[in-house]
Amino acid sequence: QLALKETLFRINQKVMAHYEARLRQAPPGQAARQYLENRGITPATLDEFHLGFSVDQWEDVVGFLKQARISRQAALNSGLVVPRKNQSGFYDRFRNRIMFPIFDINMQVAGFGGRVMDDQMPKYMNSPETPVYSKTRILYGLHAAKTHCRNAKVVHIVEGYFDFLTLFQNGIKNTVATLGTALTAEHVRILKGYAPAMVLVFDSDAAGIHAARRSIKTFLNEGVDTRILILPTGDDPDAFVLKHGPDAFLDLAARARSVMPFLRQVAMDTHGSSVAGRARVLADLMPYIADIQDSALRSLHVNELAETLNIDEAAVLEKVREQVIKSK
Ligand code: ATP
Ligand code: MN
Ligand code: MN
Ligand code: MN
Repeated sequence: QLALKETLFRINQKVMAHYEARLRQAPPGQAARQYLENRGITPATLDEFHLGFSVDQWEDVVGFLKQARISRQAALNSGLVVPRKNQSGFYDRFRNRIMFPIFDINMQVAGFGGRVMDDQMPKYMNSPETPVYSKTRILYGLHAAKTHCRNAKVVHIVEGYFDFLTLFQNGIKNTVATLGTALTAEHVRILKGYAPAMVLVFDSDAAGIHAARRSIKTFLNEGVDTRILILPTGDDPDAFVLKHGPDAFLDLAARARSVMPFLRQVAMDTHGSSVAGRARVLADLMPYIADIQDSALRSLHVNELAETLNIDEAAVLEKVREQVIKSK
């Protein structure tokens, strides 16, 4: 298993260099370089994060791996090539895409993401799960961000490659990206090792809000100081910083609300603060509170909620019990 992991890291490293070289070749890399320039990515960022390009051919990486004397089995395990149906041989998983190597904390290449340069679907593709790539654990950019997270004592969590790259390039270096999945407990535990506080900045589109909701439960369960930042007018962090600059972003981040006050505010904006409204606010928050496993932590939230809603604490506790039974 150890030998396999080392082999996979070595293959990924080689293929990363191959994609980088392709990006620098006049054709076919020209359009990809232009795309990156249009999105505001500087040559320095491109170098630092080893961005590359997979050409529009079926067997470019297949041929490269063959030439590098990589065994068929190892090539297959890397996820970079896919077996052909009904016949022998492989084809390249990533074709005609901007390539983002995904580094682990030790700067080893664990996997890749690839983006099309037009509006084809799927917009992004990532490496499949391999012995060195696990999407529930990997955080894009952490290898570069970790010292900045330690110094700033807070980490910004964004969704996408370009969100990370634009923030980092604009000096907001205490940032990592989850690559579109909801944050897992594993992610949060890893991040806690670098910073005690987190700001979740997911997109305000349906997918982002859904992922944020699922992430909120994880944060509450892990008892970590988390703030939720919803950017105005549907921007994602990349678009926001390109339009308004890093200071405007940091301003909003500094004013972002903690998870429970955030949820409470959302619910109160919806239901109002009448007696009936507050009862519905309580009902809205109940699933989040009942989901907290640590009883001391849960009790602290019950206490706070009772106080801010001006409801008897025993009544809130009763609701929590009902909810726990319901969700069993
Ligand atoms: P861009 O700015 O390049 O259009 P984005 O990062 O804003 O892309 P979103 O649609 O907001 O794209 O998705 C956020 C992240 O989710 C992506 O950066 C990518 O990591 C991941 N993602 C999106 N679509 C897919 C997909 N079809 N398969 C795998 N991962 C995806
Ligand atoms: Mn989105
Ligand atoms: Mn986005
Ligand atoms: Mn975007």
